[in-house]
Amino acid sequence: MTTTSVTVIGLGPMGHAMATTYLDRGYGLTVWNRTPAKADALVARGARLAPTAEDALRASDLVVLSLTDYTAVYAILEQAPAALAGRTVANLTSDTPARAREAAAWLARHGAVQLTGGVQVPPPGIGTPGAMTYYSGPAEAIETHRAALETLTGIDHLGEDPGLAALYYQIGIDMFWIGLTGYLHGQALAQANGISAQDFLPHALKTADFRYFLEFYAPRIDAGNHAGDMETLSMAVASLEHVVRTAEESGVDASLPAATLDLFRRGVAAGRDQDSLTSLVEVVQKG
Ligand code: NDP
Repeated sequence: MTTTSVTVIGLGPMGHAMATTYLDRGYGLTVWNRTPAKADALVARGARLAPTAEDALRASDLVVLSLTDYTAVYAILEQAPAALAGRTVANLTSDTPARAREAAAWLARHGAVQLTGGVQVPPPGIGTPGAMTYYSGPAEAIETHRAALETLTGIDHLGEDPGLAALYYQIGIDMFWIGLTGYLHGQALAQANGISAQDFLPHALKTADFRYFLEFYAPRIDAGNHAGDMETLSMAVASLEHVVRTAEESGVDASLPAATLDLFRRGVAAGRDQDSLTSLVEVVQKG
């Protein structure tokens, strides 16, 4: 059976993009949001704004949640737990793997199935080719709602454990936030020295192409091989000290590279000075 009607709860930038995509593809769409005015443009295009969370839950077999965190999920679902029976809840809300597992069990107690999801594209990517979402949960629920889910993004089904999609998502987003903040810090340094972000962009693109390092390091990390034959942690400390000083001399807050430098120094203090930067994997695991 193909799903032709969907409920979307949560109309932040992401939920709004999802709702818009369903309207574009001709789905019957029910929406609900804590702040109802965020549904105005969708209602103008034919969406139905449910008067209550209960109505929204009862309206469709497939309920998509796009909320800030699971505290928001419970704040909404606890308004009408009896309306959950028989529903598949595609919970595309970010939170920890533990909370995803806990919510799947809570939903099961109310007769619903959770598909945990971690969306890997920003809102403009919804409904575009190549966009992907990590999913975990029962394969049967994925198959039942495949067409509706694929209307948003492709499906990367990681397995039954409801925590898996949240785990993969958090690992990716760990890299994303830290990497992107590094980019912003670099652009702050460029601008403070009279170089525009656009002028630095081609150089940033080359620097941020980490692919060689990702592929070179992965098998070594798995093998516990942290040989310092390409670079050593002691070199990395000296290098990052230059970055911190350059930031300070430019009047730019150096706390971000300084925090990374602190981690590198802890690696050196743990005796890894002649090992590769990859030895930091073990340094952070040991705390
Ligand atoms: P927002 O934080 O902007 O979404 C907020 C939504 O959650 C709104 O509908 C808001 O309602 C609702 N909400 C928050 N707290 C509560 C509460 N206590 N009770 C009821 N409703 C609440 O996030 P986005 O739309 O940007 O993203 C949604 C999810 O998708 C997040 O988990 C995010 O991590 C994830 N994601 C986002 C991406 C992005 O680029 N935006 C990319 C990939 C994933 P109200 O409007 O009333 O405030």
